[in-house]
Amino acid sequence: MEYINDKLLKTKEKGLFRVLKYIQTAQSPRVKIDGKNFILLGSNNYLGLCDSPILKKAAIDAINKYGVGSGGSRLTTGSYDIHKRLEKKLALFKGTQDGMIFNTGYMANIGTISALCNRQWVIFSDRLNHASIVDGCLLSGGKLIRYAHCNMDDLYNKLKNYRGTNNLIVTDGVFSMDGDIAPLPDIVELARKFKALTMVDDAHGTGVIGKNGAGTCSYYDLEGEIDINMGTLSKAIASEGGYVTGNCELIDYLKNFSRSFIYSTALAPSTIAVSLKAIEIIEKDNTRRSDLLNMSNWFLCKLRAAGFNTLDTKTQIIPIIIGSSDIAVQFSKELFESGVYIPAIRPPSVPEGSSRLRISLMATHTEEDLLEALTKLIAIGKKLSVIGG
Ligand SMILES: *Cc1c(COP(=O)(O)O)cnc(C)c1O
Repeated sequence: MEYINDKLLKTKEKGLFRVLKYIQTAQSPRVKIDGKNFILLGSNNYLGLCDSPILKKAAIDAINKYGVGSGGSRLTTGSYDIHKRLEKKLALFKGTQDGMIFNTGYMANIGTISALCNRQWVIFSDRLNHASIVDGCLLSGGKLIRYAHCNMDDLYNKLKNYRGTNNLIVTDGVFSMDGDIAPLPDIVELARKFKALTMVDDAHGTGVIGKNGAGTCSYYDLEGEIDINMGTLSKAIASEGGYVTGNCELIDYLKNFSRSFIYSTALAPSTIAVSLKAIEIIEKDNTRRSDLLNMSNWFLCKLRAAGFNTLDTKTQIIPIIIGSSDIAVQFSKELFESGVYIPAIRPPSVPEGSSRLRISLMATHTEEDLLEALTKLIAIGKKLSVIGG
């Protein structure tokens, strides 16, 4: 226990101790916490589908048909016809031969990378890739080489030293904390040159960018050019689960060798029904995506005009870089007291010295929501000298 107390104390001293907030309503632009109302501006419910009546009905219908729990792992008694339908749907949506579902995106990453790579492999990973990618690399035992964020010269120089080995290049499609988009055409070209496999984690691009929301590969017209397309059903798709799509051999292989797929109980049929219906909505309804991206761009311009450092975001994820963890936490706390909930993100989720507020928009935010949040961001930003004036 001494070790634990020590570690907790040090974490608190560094301003890195985390506490949870408990929301009492559906995930939407305005939520209730501790009985008070807040504008929520940090959700991954990008398309605002978490409280969609159509999706709620899909879940209820599936519960009436299949019950609640799935009752088994996917390779024993937990696979339902509806799981198969979703896997086919994902493959079509992503323009690949086949697809499979994991219980979370985290499990998809660790299960896929650790099933594919071993000590003989070298894995080239963008420095800002999501933690679940890093954990997958560590679990695999492969050699992990991190290249500078989206820096193709650095990737080239690192690949050059590993000709003839089994190589995997892995990147986020849209980066979860910076909101920028990976240079996939260059990555594909380098992968061809050095005979490396490619893997894209499209947790934040899926449902948002690309044709009909099909994600980052579609955004660049690179469907079928990426070996492993991975993502989550828990963000724009407003459900739960992770997925991998690719060619039939890849999917057969992962179903047989991925431990996080094999040794865990399948997602409930109702969850699967929600994912299936949400993808149908996303494919048909392009206005949610365009509303989201237009409003994000409008809000970004306002924040930049006010003097905030928002990096090079191209999407609904807008970082406000603060630097110091203490000030980022203070900023988030004062916003919260004034009725705006934007989480502060600190190391280890982001590199040292780049603590930030991570804003993310929902398609259902109104101009009124955003202007109210903006006024408070500017007032507190000035007070804490994050911006001048
Ligand atoms: C959220 C996220 C994951 C994990 O997905 P879950 O379904 O929440 O486990 C993986 N990769 C990235 C880039 C993410 O942002």
